[in-house]
Amino acid sequence: MRVLAVSAHPDDVEFGCAGTLAKWVDEGAEVTMCIVTDGSTGTQDQELMGTNLSKLRMEESQRAADVLGVKEVVWLDYQDGYVEYSLELRKDIARVFRQYRPHRYIVMDPTPVIDDFVNHPDHRAIGQASLDVTLSAGTTPGHFPELLAEGLEPWRGLRELWIMGPGDRPHAEDITTTLDRKIEALLCHQSQVGEDAERIATWMRQRFAEVGKAVGYGAAETFQVIGQGPGFHADETEEDVDMAAPPVDPAAAPVRRQD
Ligand SMILES: [Zn+2]
Repeated sequence: MRVLAVSAHPDDVEFGCAGTLAKWVDEGAEVTMCIVTDGSTGTQDQELMGTNLSKLRMEESQRAADVLGVKEVVWLDYQDGYVEYSLELRKDIARVFRQYRPHRYIVMDPTPVIDDFVNHPDHRAIGQASLDVTLSAGTTPGHFPELLAEGLEPWRGLRELWIMGPGDRPHAEDITTTLDRKIEALLCHQSQVGEDAERIATWMRQRFAEVGKAVGYGAAETFQVIGQGPGFHADETEEDVDMAAPPVDPAAAPVRRQD
């Protein structure tokens, strides 16, 4: 099984879905992370901000990816904090979607206000564009035909779309066995956690244990999971899809008409 997780900033995955990714790695999945921004503005330190920080954060993300067992980290190098929804953004994410042909695709929530906090503008733009590629640019040849010229056929073998979310999302994934790795991965982002590492680790442990407790797990991350749509694998049923099966040959994947 192939998994692609698209996030805005170098540490978003660690907060939102790293326990789940590590669990899937343990189950044999091939996981790719795509980080859209360069992380260059994630500091109050005016000496550090810019390319120095960006370079540091790439190294931190690679260390975190190694902790989680993520196979590859793809960077789109958009400027941190300046991302707007654009066709270019949609195309760039679609390119990665077509290259990595995920069976499970994890994206950020584009909702402007989530519970009692304002969602980061980069999260909103990237979350929306990530969702949209499943219905258009990632799955349909007429959207950005220049991608065809790059040798990238539409990918129509997606089976599940997972939207990262706070604790009240309908699907809770048991991360009891991988909570430690999730925290260890987050702590790789030294430029972000700094001297607060211990406090943040404690908070994370409590927070995700609390989410798990509500559903009877030692710890959990929650998501909204969508299992059907025009660009999805056409034979999707509980019975006939073996998520551990070898990767689907994209050329052989059934095509569902959008009408
Ligand atoms: Zn972020």
